[in-house]
Amino acid sequence: MDLELSADETDLVELCREFATKEIATRAPEAWEQAVCPTDLLREMGELGLLGMLIPEQWGGIGMSTVGFVAAMEQIGLADQSVAAAWQAHVTIGSLPLYLFGNDAQRERWLRPLAEGRVLGAFGLTEPDAGSDTRGITTRAERRDGGWLINGRKAFISNAGTDMSFGVTLLARTQAIDGGEARFASFVVEKDTPGFTMGPKMRGIGWRGLDTRELYFDDVWVGDDHLVGDRDLGLSQFLSTLEVGRISIAALSLSLTQAVLTMATEYAKHRRQFGKPISKFQAVQFKLADIATELEAARWLTYRAAYLRDAGKPFLKEASMAKLKASRVATWAASEAVQIHGGIGYMLESPVARFYCDSKVLEIGEGTNEIQHVVIARMLGC
Ligand SMILES: Cc1cc2nc3c(=O)[nH]c(=O)nc-3n(C[C@H](O)[C@H](O)[C@H](O)COP(=O)(O)OP(=O)(O)OC[C@H]3O[C@@H](n4cnc5c(N)ncnc54)[C@H](O)[C@@H]3O)c2cc1C
Repeated sequence: MDLELSADETDLVELCREFATKEIATRAPEAWEQAVCPTDLLREMGELGLLGMLIPEQWGGIGMSTVGFVAAMEQIGLADQSVAAAWQAHVTIGSLPLYLFGNDAQRERWLRPLAEGRVLGAFGLTEPDAGSDTRGITTRAERRDGGWLINGRKAFISNAGTDMSFGVTLLARTQAIDGGEARFASFVVEKDTPGFTMGPKMRGIGWRGLDTRELYFDDVWVGDDHLVGDRDLGLSQFLSTLEVGRISIAALSLSLTQAVLTMATEYAKHRRQFGKPISKFQAVQFKLADIATELEAARWLTYRAAYLRDAGKPFLKEASMAKLKASRVATWAASEAVQIHGGIGYMLESPVARFYCDSKVLEIGEGTNEIQHVVIARMLGC
């Protein structure tokens, strides 16, 4: 596996580093504090081409490799996790179903504006009674008047309710629950479609700048041209999209771990107790050394999964392993970094506290870590 970045990937990393340092790091903390999604920053990222990261130029994107995306995420996520979370959800689960499974007319109509960064994409899978158990969704799509009538409810959907959102690509059951073998299809529902409404932005422990809501569908009618991909393969289309989403959450986790490692190291070098910097105490040194080592291990797993995707090889197991390892490392490292900061690390005035709050969701989103265990165990033949 050659992980030397290409010239294009290196240029992208530089662009992201500069934007993250100059714009995101200075403006996003206020958005986190006020719990609003900073769409101004996302629009600017769109102008830089960053919202069409994994989409080919033919459809308005920049056709970046998955390895390049991970490397870019390492820069964006260092500055702010909410912006990085909204960005990665758009780039992967918010856009990829249309690119991977949509027809050319759908790509022109919905994917191009997403890839060009004019609108934000959302992925509607989870429901109040069906999270890990994806086959348990009850949102229904029935054939009606030459199209589809959708009824149901989605939970925790990111990026659907901002002033930049276009709507959602959702998964619905097309067969009655007791109507024989379950069948699922995915549909685009645009935001002004009659019967499509949403709840208020929810308040998380972290990712406060991410817009996450419940979505409601009451007799929402869409034409056949809104059906994305095969009418019976919607679930497998969604699950394969999540494989890429897991690499993305792993990359986000790497960025969080790097951020808290840098903060804790700097703090330890300057904070003096008992007449010397606390970095001179072995207990503190060992924490930092452990974080650095675990980060490097998680990094290799994540880049390996990205490399496999770019090489056109299977990466299901590796993406789950990367997400499992990297998110665990991130939540643990954030806790250790707060510990190194002592009392000030607990206060929201301190950036490390914000990253600590942002860490927990990494073990939950895009398939909980228990579900990553299930996927990995299944690949082992269990
Ligand atoms: C901030 C945020 C943003 C999100 N954005 C989106 C989005 O944009 N689109 C979207 O569709 N979803 C989104 N989600 C939903 C997310 O994917 C789900 O929360 C997640 O998949 C878990 O589902 P659940 O919350 O229903 O938990 P449940 O599935 O009810 O799980 C509860 C607990 O039971 C465990 N569990 C469940 N089944 C098993 C099993 N078989 N073996 C062992 N343990 C098990 C879980 O691991 C977990 O610990 C978001 C969630 C959050 C918090």
